[in-house]
Amino acid sequence: MERWETTTGAPEETRELGKLLGEFAAAGLVVLLNGDLGAGKTCFAQGVASGLGVSSASPVTSPSYTLLNIHSGRLPLYHFDLYRLSQVDDLADLGYDEFAEGDGLTLVEWADRMTDALAASVDVFIEHLTEQHRKLCFVALDDRGRDLLAQLAGTAQIGDEPA
Ligand code: ADP
Ligand code: MG
Repeated sequence: MERWETTTGAPEETRELGKLLGEFAAAGLVVLLNGDLGAGKTCFAQGVASGLGVSSASPVTSPSYTLLNIHSGRLPLYHFDLYRLSQVDDLADLGYDEFAEGDGLTLVEWADRMTDALAASVDVFIEHLTEQHRKLCFVALDDRGRDLLAQLAGTAQIGDEPA
């Protein structure tokens, strides 16, 4: 599946989708999260963490000054937030490639700031519809992404119809 779109009507539903992705994910998966401030990127990332079995003692937050937070779960979760990053070189300095090609699941908030530099399997575009509704559009970027989207679309109980 190349592309899958759904609508959520509450933060819990967005977390639930993230959780499914976290449950399906295999090592080396890279997912880019795009959307404005308050779209729900971190909310989705929290769900992914729960799907990976990350402990609530290691909560996923929007790190305003931290570019990378690592959480341990079934696979390590590498949670990048590029809001404050302006140069692709700075990302290389962080060791991005080693994380992305490594043993964990990499999530990148504000990936659209440097999208052409990042290799990934899935692009997620989150759009603000109403106060409680978000449109999530998943786009597969490689075979692994296509498989993941098929799994997500086949399993997700919510948002099968637009709000
Ligand atoms: P971002 O990381 O994209 O800046 P956050 O995940 O930190 O966004 O914030 C999203 C905000 O929107 C939260 O306050 C959340 O409670 C609220 N919200 C309302 N409805 C939804 C929804 N359907 N999905 C995700 N977040 C939602
Ligand atoms: Mg955030």
